Amino acid sequence: MTQKVRTRIAPSPTGFLHLGTARTALYSWAYARHFGGEFVLRIEDTDVARSTQDSVDQILASMQWLGLNHDEGPVYQMQRLARYHAVVEEMLAAGTAYRCYATPEELDAMREAQRARGEKTHYDGRWRPEPGKRLPPIPAGVKPVVRFANPQSGVVSWDDLVKGPIHISNSEIDDLIILRPAPEGAPDGAAALGVPTYNFAVVVDDSDMAISHVFRGDEHINNTPWQINIFRALKAPLPQFGHCPIILGDDGQKLSKRRGAVSVTAYEDAGYLPEAMLNYLARLGWSHGDEELFSREQMVQWFDGSHLARSPAQWDPAKLAWVNAHYIKTADDARLAGLMQRQLASRGVLVDELELLARAAALFKDRCTTVVELADWAEMLFVPVKLRDEDLATHVTAAVVPALRSLRSQLADVAWDKASIAAALKETLAAHQLKMPQLAPALRVLVCGRPQTPSIDAVLTLFPRHQVLERLQHL
Ligand code: GLU
Repeated sequence: MTQKVRTRIAPSPTGFLHLGTARTALYSWAYARHFGGEFVLRIEDTDVARSTQDSVDQILASMQWLGLNHDEGPVYQMQRLARYHAVVEEMLAAGTAYRCYATPEELDAMREAQRARGEKTHYDGRWRPEPGKRLPPIPAGVKPVVRFANPQSGVVSWDDLVKGPIHISNSEIDDLIILRPAPEGAPDGAAALGVPTYNFAVVVDDSDMAISHVFRGDEHINNTPWQINIFRALKAPLPQFGHCPIILGDDGQKLSKRRGAVSVTAYEDAGYLPEAMLNYLARLGWSHGDEELFSREQMVQWFDGSHLARSPAQWDPAKLAWVNAHYIKTADDARLAGLMQRQLASRGVLVDELELLARAAALFKDRCTTVVELADWAEMLFVPVKLRDEDLATHVTAAVVPALRSLRSQLADVAWDKASIAAALKETLAAHQLKMPQLAPALRVLVCGRPQTPSIDAVLTLFPRHQVLERLQHL
């Protein structure tokens, strides 16, 4: 029988959900969905000093925004301490783990000496029990750590789903700490027995949760041999691993806080749609032929773990904008209206005319890249526009002012619909012997605050008549 596909995303709540983690979450989610499996969300909060509830909330909100729904979880590691302690006890009894009483000062001195000898620093196994070896006397008052007794010879190999075969020699790896004394302020259970380290807790969890496939960033490749060795020590079946290359910023450096926005929520705030983010993130490290634009359903249909890129992808804001513009164009107007309402509210413009916003969305969405731009357009319907001197000078010239005045009086009377406004415009042009490209920009500047808009008759119908008349009255 083949194992059921179960994937997971296991963010540490020490900041926002990074784009790289969002991408791995997407791959894990799509892989589970493709194979009819399950997707688990686990919060790796064992870094007690740096984990915050705020960050947990942000991560959950980002996952929800992206629509990466999980079947199990969120599982919090700090709620599973008793389980890690039990596994540590089993390992101590089996001799696959041991207590180490070396003090931090002692370990510093050890590493210093190794450096002086030109060696790579490593734990030298001073507390590792060996047949016939006499361990040092247990010092008073030192809280021990527990270390994993890593195999000392042999090679750890796995066939990485992304990178292909990887081999790392056990001689490169030292005895990893799997449980540490709890830091100040740790919850009770941890304070008594200690806090597990990432490489240990991740294995206990991936094993307990029957995770079949682990997708994660390739910064974890060096951790994987330890993890594989711990799986083996626990006699637990190994998942398959896929390590995705990092995402580079547009300057070719690792994407980081200092290089552009890297949280998912920042893109939500900047007016990107979740389906655009998913589509863009999916392509950043994976391909399906030449397809650039595809739905979440198509991705699930296509994503079988093949065609994952081995080399780092570069973040490309222009391409993301292009993808977003596509989804804005095809989005439902009522949905866009809700998003525009929120955008406007964040600027202090409180609007409840959702139907009007939907009409504005329909009119402007073809020329917008983000919801922020849509809101920029809609704002003129609710707050006075800023008239720029150079626009006034260029477009509202002495040659068109008389025509604008007579247009204003016509608009005071016509039926307030596109056809009647168009007819009034035509009449004005004829009476003043002007052409549309002379009159329309002037009208746009005065009413909309900018010289270019979609068809002005359609735009005017978004405003109440009195507002248009007001904006034309100071001529
Ligand atoms: N908590 C780890 C991280 O956020 C998880 C890595 C993994 O998926 O194993 O990097």
